[in-house]
Amino acid sequence: MQINKVAVLGAGIMGAGIAQVAAQGGYSVVLRDLHFSLAQEGMKTIEKNLDRLISKAVIDEKEKEKIMHRITPTTDLAQIYDADIIIEAVVENMAVKKQLFAELDNMCRQDAVLATNTSSLSITEIASATKHPERVIGMHFFNPVPAMQLVEIVKGMETDEKTVEIASYFVSRIGKEKIVISRESPGFVVNRILVPYINEAIFIYAEGLAQAEEIDLAMKLGAGMPVGPLELADMIGLDTVYAVILSFYHEFRDTKYRPHPLLATMVRAGHLGKKSGRGFYVYS
Ligand code: NAD
Repeated sequence: MQINKVAVLGAGIMGAGIAQVAAQGGYSVVLRDLHFSLAQEGMKTIEKNLDRLISKAVIDEKEKEKIMHRITPTTDLAQIYDADIIIEAVVENMAVKKQLFAELDNMCRQDAVLATNTSSLSITEIASATKHPERVIGMHFFNPVPAMQLVEIVKGMETDEKTVEIASYFVSRIGKEKIVISRESPGFVVNRILVPYINEAIFIYAEGLAQAEEIDLAMKLGAGMPVGPLELADMIGLDTVYAVILSFYHEFRDTKYRPHPLLATMVRAGHLGKKSGRGFYVYS
């Protein structure tokens, strides 16, 4: 299948990044958000990212202009009508995503691939809002999208092989590596490993075995991790870490995924990490 046009829904942290890498891959991109100012914010983020690439001599001013020209910010959902791949990156809310996919289904081309960037919701349930669940797939990018190499391609129960092939081809064309996850499961692969690891670090911290700095140093110097688990939790946001581990606990009904009560308490106190100025560390 020839891919010419990509539509990205949601111009937030992830949507802007996805639009950028698609445009850098040479695709014509529509970037849609609910308000034009939000779509423009996404464009500003992309411009800043490209300026950084210019300062590192990765691209030049001319190339930046070309990439920016390939992206059209909009609020008009109807502009997806001729897109070959539609990638949804709106808020992590099942009701919102299902409503959007039901609308897309009636507006897009019959052979378009409908991808969701959800981190934790069921692809199968999102697909159930459409008449064509076989062309719905998870395409899980990582933050920050331009820098992170991996995309997890996740099959829902009805996703067909052709959809997997198109999604895989697109990911390789934008210069990313992929793994294909043959059956959806909470957290897919990366977060299923990463979030319980962070939770275990919180248990160790709460049991008073070592200070936060020492736990992070231990994993950096002793296990070769680029960032320690508690620093990473602060970067992700403790509310997000809590929500994800709790979703594993509920879905698998396995106590190995129980969040440490300290994590819940910190979230209730508003100590959410970097974004709130305080988590395991204090940020000024
Ligand atoms: P965000 O809050 O930064 O951006 C979401 C954007 O979607 C907002 O600008 C909002 O106005 C817009 N939006 C809401 N409803 C919309 C609709 N119906 N149509 C178009 N736009 C709509 O969120 P984000 O962090 O970019 O996350 C987006 C998705 O990506 C979520 O499903 C999230 O779980 C997933 N994800 C996030 C990360 C991360 O680190 N932030 C990593 C991987 C996956």
